[in-house]
Amino acid sequence: MTSRTAIVDYVPYLVGAIGAGILVFGASLFGILTRPEGLLAVLWPANALLLAAFVRVPSMNTPIGWLAAFGGFMLADILTGSDVSKAAWLTVANMSGVAVGLALISKLDPEDRNLRRPSGVLYLCLTSAAAATGSGLMGIAVALIVFHSDPVMAFVFWSSTEFANYVIILPFAMTVSRLPDFLSAWQRLAGRIRQDWKVLLGGMPALSLAFSLVMVSFVGGPGAIVFPVPALLWCALSYRLSVVSVLITLLSLWLMIVLELDLLANLPEGADPYYGVISTRLGIAMLALGPLTVASIDRARSALVERLDHAANHDYLTGLLTRGAFMPLGQEMVDRIAAQKGRLTVMVMDFDLFKEINDSHGHATGDRILIEVARVIQRNLRGTDLFARLGGEEFAILVPDIAKVDAQGLAQRIRKAVEQASIVAANDVPIHTTVSIGLLYRQPDQPIRIDTLLNEADRAMYEAKENGRNRVVAR
Ligand code: GH3
Ligand code: MG
Ligand code: MG
Repeated sequence: MTSRTAIVDYVPYLVGAIGAGILVFGASLFGILTRPEGLLAVLWPANALLLAAFVRVPSMNTPIGWLAAFGGFMLADILTGSDVSKAAWLTVANMSGVAVGLALISKLDPEDRNLRRPSGVLYLCLTSAAAATGSGLMGIAVALIVFHSDPVMAFVFWSSTEFANYVIILPFAMTVSRLPDFLSAWQRLAGRIRQDWKVLLGGMPALSLAFSLVMVSFVGGPGAIVFPVPALLWCALSYRLSVVSVLITLLSLWLMIVLELDLLANLPEGADPYYGVISTRLGIAMLALGPLTVASIDRARSALVERLDHAANHDYLTGLLTRGAFMPLGQEMVDRIAAQKGRLTVMVMDFDLFKEINDSHGHATGDRILIEVARVIQRNLRGTDLFARLGGEEFAILVPDIAKVDAQGLAQRIRKAVEQASIVAANDVPIHTTVSIGLLYRQPDQPIRIDTLLNEADRAMYEAKENGRNRVVAR
């Protein structure tokens, strides 16, 4: 029994290790197969992808996960003609960069790691530099032992290429959505396009990016590398960060291929290609950082606006709509119902003798009852109803499309639910409260103002108070 449990416990790690192996193998094959003749790979995504996978999927980051990744690197190299000792040295250099990167990135705040704030771009950039230096140092050993080439040149070339790779791949790999999220986002988008084709105009920034790439190939020359900047900035201000980082990765890949092939094709006979290639790779990596920072600032700003918006429209105590948010939303609903000649119910409610509760149990206990009662009432409402705290211990509910008897039933259900609700005070006594409800049922056929409706419901509520409280008066 115990041994079976133990095996089951290991399954996620085995699956994680297999995943790491497959990821590295596939990414390495990609790097090898897109490598220009005689140079290090143009794009080597394996290291940055492995680093991101170790961070995002902890079940991969285990000794067997590392072993499987080692196997993935080796297999890809050997299958494409490397001998075993050369493949082993290259793999050790790759993985030492990943180890350095992992040690640093796991110390980062998740807000930075996922680029939710702009300082994250700087930290990912520094992490990339450190990981690249780690690989570059091992590159010296590889140059001396395997290739018998210039160790300084090996370090410069290796670390700059790795830096470019990490900077280009890491933001994408750290922020890209998991597959189910991606698929559901795609379905939502497809649905919106079916509803209104104008949503497709949202593709303009991406289209302009594609156009800028055509210009890069068409015009060429030393300035071509920055042609995509305006389009990239437009994308950064238009799309979510995860989409921007995907676009940046694709763009960088494209630029590397086009610009490096162009460079190699125009190289004078016998000239050293390394200098130009290093310069191009670093330039492309630096190009990615600006729009990434803009996208990250935009994301932080949107999150802030969303928080402020929520704080402005919702009561801090109960989380319900404030009066200020309720009035325009309520007017919108009333207008819509009047236009459709539909049915509308307005309820205004006020806690009974609430002052006494405050006086005998304290204001804090009063607050707790307000929160609990708001929660109890909310449970009786539907998503289309509007429920607001108008102020103090006075609340309003707007219920669309409901028959008069059902509205009265709902009001009675709410009244009983509040009566039965209780909170426990300090000395373990349960505290109860009740509400008086004024209910207004209308089938409007011409525009009416929400304040008029609230005033009338208010009068019904006061009638309920006069008739003895804890009751519903309908008009
Ligand atoms: P009734 O409405 O039944 O006539 O009696 P009442 O005692 O509820 O009367 P009134 O409306 O005059 O008093 C409202 C009380 O609600 C007074 C105030 O201290 C309390 N109150 C208003 N807002 C809050 C709040 O946010 N927290 C707490 N704890 N009490 C509040
Ligand atoms: Mg009251
Ligand atoms: Mg009151």
